[in-house]
Amino acid sequence: MITIRLKRGKSESLKRFHPWIFSGAIASMSEQPQEGEIVEVVDSEGHFAALGHYQIGSITVRVLSFERSRIDTDFWKRRLHEAWLMRKAIGVTGLSDNNIYRLVHGEGDRLPGLIIDVYGNTAVMQAHSVGMHRQRMQIAEALAEATEGEISNVYYKSETTLPFKAGLGQEDGFILGGETGNIATEYGLQFHIDWLKGQKTGFFVDQRENRRLLEHYAKGKKVLNMFCYTGGFSVYALRGGAELVHSVDSSAKAIDLTRANVSLNFTGDNRHEAFAEDAFKFLSRADDIYDLIVLDPPAFAKHKDALRNALKGYTRLNAIAFEKIKKGGILFTFSCSQAVNKDQFRLAVFTAAAQSGRHVRILHQLHQPADHPVNIYHPEGEYLKGLVLYVE
Ligand code: SAH
Repeated sequence: MITIRLKRGKSESLKRFHPWIFSGAIASMSEQPQEGEIVEVVDSEGHFAALGHYQIGSITVRVLSFERSRIDTDFWKRRLHEAWLMRKAIGVTGLSDNNIYRLVHGEGDRLPGLIIDVYGNTAVMQAHSVGMHRQRMQIAEALAEATEGEISNVYYKSETTLPFKAGLGQEDGFILGGETGNIATEYGLQFHIDWLKGQKTGFFVDQRENRRLLEHYAKGKKVLNMFCYTGGFSVYALRGGAELVHSVDSSAKAIDLTRANVSLNFTGDNRHEAFAEDAFKFLSRADDIYDLIVLDPPAFAKHKDALRNALKGYTRLNAIAFEKIKKGGILFTFSCSQAVNKDQFRLAVFTAAAQSGRHVRILHQLHQPADHPVNIYHPEGEYLKGLVLYVE
């Protein structure tokens, strides 16, 4: 196995189990590894530190193990089984009214570079590292056993998540089992899951608990769901007894999907209308009729260097919402940018509130759900932040 030796003092973060090794920490390599190869990392004195996937880029090694261990089918089975036992322990598996959950959340499950979402008996697997891509077949095979037979189909969806320059020629498709129905159930509501063409793994599993909270506040309200994608928040608002629900997304496909999901649960319900339009434009010209507004935009900052503009974007968007929302209205506002931390997001929303001059109370501070765990040694894994605000 190829050995990567770290510079003096650069193995400290590994002692605290941080799973990333940056290119600047590396002193030498016994040979040039292939992208995605498993390498052994040693400290400046040659003592074993970790095993991980090598990749060209700023994060050069993603650590799989801090112990000497064979990275083989048994390893994947063990890790996947641990992830599955955790989901079982928190009660997201084996439910009669919910078969959508995240089984593997990258570093949060000590599997950096790997995302697996479950929809019924189908797992949608996404590799964010070349190493996970190379080992996709072993991982897919291990899944059935690790989940005690719960998973029988694996759809691989990594065309857009792997570095193009690695020249892997990856294609999306089933790598285990085959075509299955693509309707799944979240807390008793049904959703078409577009794992073929949809964003992420086809659905935003991470908003499940926050959608349920919105349902609780929806009764008798006029609801505006901005950046609706599959219409998740809209469907919950309808079940919660909203008086009307407007869904907005700039993508026509998302609007089709939203309409399909509303019909799936509430056929012929005329409380719902969907608009394919830019969110900023829609909000700016909207009448002041809404008493519950959801803002769940895409990540404005994909990288640290986009942070300033992203914060401005959050302030601008929230400022229009504060301007428009009715007195006594409730605003659900989110950021899923990993590069924006909780305090920065809160400051952006605070700035927007202050500009509007309205009285604003924080009712809830929201985050990603328990099946998207944050590894305590890897705080970077915390990405979803939300505030629920009462606006007078
Ligand atoms: N709230 C959704 C997830 C939102 S994902 C859920 O619960 O599933 C972000 C969505 O914002 C995407 O569907 C994307 O098409 C949409 N989007 C991106 N830019 C937009 C813009 N300027 N105006 C309206 N929608 C936009």
